[in-house]
Amino acid sequence: MRTPPRPRAIVIGGSLGGLFSAVCLRAAGWDVVVFERSPQELDSRGGGLVLQPAVIDALDFAGIDPGADFGVPSRDRVFVDRNGAERRAYMPQTQIAWNGLYLRLRRAVDPATLRAGETFTAFAQHGSRVTARFASGHAEEGDLLIGADGPLSAVRAQLLPGARPTYAGYAAWRGVLPETALPSISEPLLRNSFVFQDGRAHQFLSYRIPGEDGSVRPGERRQNWVWYRKIAQGPELDALLQDRVGQRHNYSLPPGAMRDAEIRNLQMGALDVLAPALAGLVTATPDPFLQLIHDYEAPRMVFGRVVLLGDAAFVARPHTGAGAGKAAANAVALARALQGRAVDKADGAGGIDPALAAWEQDQLPADRRLVKWGIALGQRIMGAAQPA
Ligand SMILES: Cc1cc2nc3c(=O)[nH]c(=O)nc-3n(C[C@H](O)[C@H](O)[C@H](O)COP(=O)(O)OP(=O)(O)OC[C@H]3O[C@@H](n4cnc5c(N)ncnc54)[C@H](O)[C@@H]3O)c2cc1C
Repeated sequence: MRTPPRPRAIVIGGSLGGLFSAVCLRAAGWDVVVFERSPQELDSRGGGLVLQPAVIDALDFAGIDPGADFGVPSRDRVFVDRNGAERRAYMPQTQIAWNGLYLRLRRAVDPATLRAGETFTAFAQHGSRVTARFASGHAEEGDLLIGADGPLSAVRAQLLPGARPTYAGYAAWRGVLPETALPSISEPLLRNSFVFQDGRAHQFLSYRIPGEDGSVRPGERRQNWVWYRKIAQGPELDALLQDRVGQRHNYSLPPGAMRDAEIRNLQMGALDVLAPALAGLVTATPDPFLQLIHDYEAPRMVFGRVVLLGDAAFVARPHTGAGAGKAAANAVALARALQGRAVDKADGAGGIDPALAAWEQDQLPADRRLVKWGIALGQRIMGAAQPA
């Protein structure tokens, strides 16, 4: 009997959305090749994430055991005010490091199928086949093209010209520092806790994550913090987005890029409005980084044999804690929908196209709800009329 050909997916983007797609589709019997613009591994830039069930589900589907050292548990949520007064609520959860998740996924992908330093430029669809083209001149053909290339997706730009995330009017300043570098004033408050300070138009939060090498041993972990503050479009934001060598960034600043004057402004602001234990975290962080907060909702996820997923399709504010979980949920659902679908039955029952249509119908409502929830949370937090 003839063995049916394995369907082949081309994935654009080698971050979490692209790697979840690769490992899940492999598990569903597809051939997958991933193209990532960055020539280096992406593991040096991430901070922390709250572990979501969808991440575990996708790892499980792909046959990846994350191990006992995947995350750091916290017991309580602690809400502090400017003077350090505390309110505690028992709410156990687990925090993971972005780089720990990224490395587990990357190690599960066959290196021969991960092409780093390849920038996608355009695609062409011809019947049930898609060809992707790259700045290097390379062209790749497959049965499905997956745009997992993030909030400024080049795949989406071809499908929906002019569609871009909209700036929400505030940014997240972030920092990660080794447990050993924590100021003594900060450590007792942060131990086993997920700490918040809500204030007038700002929110600070902090939690512990595994060390850069993945260790979850006390003394070898890291403390992750995020501080949401308003910053209007205009000269102040333009200045903030200029890096140390005068280059203007549009969406984020990686660690090491923020200018000293901006770091000093951040530290002064922290000393002014944050509880001393939290301000101590900010002033002890040598290389804070920055992410502007955006919203985006794609009208569709399937365009023939091209699909969008993860942040290319929906950008939900980080208050939802769902960026990685959403990418994982999209990818594992796509793999489940496509498992056992035959390339040569494209349009009939059991073919790829009806499976893609069903996947889209399933994913759109949940992702739309997530974006709306993120906007509602953001409005509540950033408009909060509480004392600093
Ligand atoms: C380096 C990095 C660190 C992050 N750290 C955190 C964190 O600490 N906490 C957190 O909550 N979220 C973090 N995020 C965001 C998080 O990964 C996403 O919100 C979520 O996981 C969905 O990811 P995504 O793969 O859809 O998009 P993204 O993570 O944005 O990835 C898109 C990928 O596509 C690549 N790409 C873009 N254009 C092209 C092109 N034309 N050709 C080829 N490749 C292209 C990019 O280089 C990038 O690797 C980080 C993202 C990155 C890239």
